[in-house]
Amino acid sequence: MSAIESVLVENRVFPPSDAMVKAARISGMAAYEALAKEAEQDFEGFWSRLARDNVQWTKPFTKTLDESNAPFYKWFSDGELNASANCLDKHIGTPVENKTAIVFESDDGKVSQLTYKELLAKVSQFANALKAQGIQKGDRVVIYMPMGVEGVVAMQACARIGATHSVVFGGFSAKSLQERIIDAGAVAVVTANYQMRGGKELGLKSIVDEALDMGGCDTIKSVLVFNRTATPCNMVAGRDKTFDEALKGQSTECKPEPVNAEHPLFILYTSGSTGKPKGVQHSTGGYLLWAKLTMDWTFDMKPQDLFWCTADIGWITGHSYVAYGPLAAGCTQLIFEGIPTFPHSGRFWQMIEQHKVTVFYTAPTAIRSLIKASETDEKVHPKNWDLTSLRILGTVGEPINPEAWMWYYKHVGGERCPIVDTFWQTETGGHVITPLPGATPLVPGSCTLPLPGIMAAIVDEAGHDIPNGSGGMLVIKRPWPSMIRTIWNDPERFKKSYFPEEMGGKLYLAGDGAVRDAKTGYFRITGRIDDVLNVSGHRMGTMEIESALVAKTDLVAEAAVVGRPDDLTGEAICAFVVLKRPRPTGEEAKKIANELRNWVAREIGPIAKPKDIRFGDNLPKTRSGKIMRRLLRSIAKGETITQDITTLENPAILEQLAQTN
Ligand code: ATP
Ligand code: MG
Repeated sequence: MSAIESVLVENRVFPPSDAMVKAARISGMAAYEALAKEAEQDFEGFWSRLARDNVQWTKPFTKTLDESNAPFYKWFSDGELNASANCLDKHIGTPVENKTAIVFESDDGKVSQLTYKELLAKVSQFANALKAQGIQKGDRVVIYMPMGVEGVVAMQACARIGATHSVVFGGFSAKSLQERIIDAGAVAVVTANYQMRGGKELGLKSIVDEALDMGGCDTIKSVLVFNRTATPCNMVAGRDKTFDEALKGQSTECKPEPVNAEHPLFILYTSGSTGKPKGVQHSTGGYLLWAKLTMDWTFDMKPQDLFWCTADIGWITGHSYVAYGPLAAGCTQLIFEGIPTFPHSGRFWQMIEQHKVTVFYTAPTAIRSLIKASETDEKVHPKNWDLTSLRILGTVGEPINPEAWMWYYKHVGGERCPIVDTFWQTETGGHVITPLPGATPLVPGSCTLPLPGIMAAIVDEAGHDIPNGSGGMLVIKRPWPSMIRTIWNDPERFKKSYFPEEMGGKLYLAGDGAVRDAKTGYFRITGRIDDVLNVSGHRMGTMEIESALVAKTDLVAEAAVVGRPDDLTGEAICAFVVLKRPRPTGEEAKKIANELRNWVAREIGPIAKPKDIRFGDNLPKTRSGKIMRRLLRSIAKGETITQDITTLENPAILEQLAQTN
C-alpha cells in the first residue's frame, strides 16, 4: 500500500499547566515514559502489579497472561473476584461509604442523590430479586432501560450474582431488541414502562412486548418492569413483574458471587457504523482493572471530583465510565436522563454550573450540534453559565475536528482545561490511545499517545510497520487486559475481524486508519479503513477533508466525505454537508458548493476538492451519534440501500440526501 499523504497540518500545541502537572497522578511526560518503559521491559510483571494494586481478588491470580489459545487471550485466569464488590463493598468501612455515589438529574430537572452505602443496599436487593426469578450465575439478562440509577443498579446486580448482562439502548426498535435477545439466549429482560426524553413519554415495555411476540425468544422466563412514570403499561401474568413486586420482601444484603477473572461480565453490541453490529464479549477481571485504571490515569480522579460522562448505558462508554469505572474509583458522578437540547441547547452548560462538574466527558457529535445551536442562538452559548468548576474535558466516539476541539477548549474549558481525546472502541473495553491531563502536550484533533502497556502501531496491509509521517492501519501488537474476548456465538468472525491471517494473525486490527506525526509520534485517526480515498493515486483519509470543511466556521456545521468510483480519477470525492443556515437549493446550493470547493483546494490542495457536494439537514447517524459513511457511499454511487440499518437513528435523511445534488 502506498503511503496515505498527511495533508492536514496542525501546529497548535497546548502543554498542561504547571499546576495540572504538579497535582496529577501521572505527573509530567517523564512519569508517563517511566510507566511505558516498565511495561516494555516486563510486560506481564507490569500488568500483574497493576491488577494486584487496583482490583480486590477473592482468590489471587498466579498467572498473568495465557497466550496458549491465541488470539483468545486470557488474563489473570486462575484469579477470582466480583465486579460489583469492587465497585461497592470495597468502599464500606472507608470514608467513601457515606459519600454521594450518584447525583441523578431527570429529564424534567429533578435532582436526587444516593450514597455508596445506599447504592449497595439497592444493588443487593435487586440482586436478590433476580435470584428469586431463578436467575443464576452464567445466565444472560437483557437490560432495556432509560438512562438512570435503575439501569446502573440492574447492571451491578447482574454482576453481583455472576449473570452476564447485555444492555440494549432504549432507542432501539423491537426487531433489534429481539435479535439481541435471541443472540444472547437471555432468560430475562429488565425494562421500564416508559422513558422520558425531551419532555416526551416514550413506551419501552410496549417495545419489549412487541419483540417477545415476534417469536424465537422462548428462553425469556421473566420481565421486570420499572415504573418510571405513573402511566400504566401492559403486563403479562406469570411473566411480568413490576420492580415493586419483585423487590418486596427481598433483603438489602446479598453476598457477591465470586467468579473467574475470565467470566463474561457482559455482552455489548457495537454501534454498527461499518456493518452489522458485533456482540462483543468482555471479561470480568481485565475489564474491571481497565475501568478503574483509566479513571485514575485519563481522568486523574481525585476524591473531590464530580465526574460527568454523558453517554447512555446502552453504549460501551456508559458501561466503562458510568456503570463501572466511576464506582470502582469511588468518585461522585452525575447521571442525566435527558437530552442536551431540552428544554434548550444550553442544558449541559447549565448542569455543569449547577452541579459544579469538574470532569466532563462527551462526544464530538454533541459538541458539533451545540456549537451550531449556540451560533444561531446567543442565549444557549456556554458563556452564559459559570463553568469555572471544570478542570478536565474529554471526548470520545469519533475523531474531533480541530475547529470543534478549539471551540470546546475555549468556550467550555476557558482555555484552562486539558481535553483528553480518548480513542477506543467497544472492543478495547476502555481508553487505549489518549492524552493524560497532567502530562501530554495536546494537539487539536490528535488522540496523541497510547496508554502505558498498549503497543499501538501503524502497519500496511501485510502487517509491516509503516514509518511515522505516513498513514496506514492502526493495530495493537500485544494483548491487553480489557480486550474483547470473542464475538458472542461467533468466534470465527472474531478471528477474521480482529486478527486477520493476512496480517499474520497476531496483530489486533482496530479497523481505523491512522497516521503518526513524524516528530512527536502522536497518533491521529484519519477515518475507518474502508473510508480511505484514492484519488488519482493519492491516498487520503476522509477525516482530513471533513476537517477542512468544518474549518469554514462561518458556514459549515458538519461534514462527511466518501468516495465513489470515477472513470477519470479512480475515485471521486463526494461531500455531504450540513450548514449553519437552512439547507440551500438550486443556484444558492451551487454557489455555496463552489465556495466550499475552492476553500478545500486552498486548505489542503486541489487534489482534495470534492467533485460532488450535497447539502442535507443532517447526516445519517447511528443511535450513538456517529456518522454512517457506509450509507453515504451507497448514496454517492446512486445505489439503493440494502445494508443493515438497524442502528440508524434517522432513516428519513437517506431519502433527502439521495434527492439532493
Ligand atoms: P461498528 O464496529 O459496528 O462499525 P463502531 O466502530 O462505530 O461500530 P464503537 O465501538 O462504538 O462502534 O466505536 C468505536 C469507533 O469509534 C472506533 O473504531 C473509531 O472509529 C471511533 N472513535 C472512538 N473514539 C475516537 C476518537 N477519540 N478519535 C477518533 N475516532 C474515535
Ligand atoms: Mg467498530
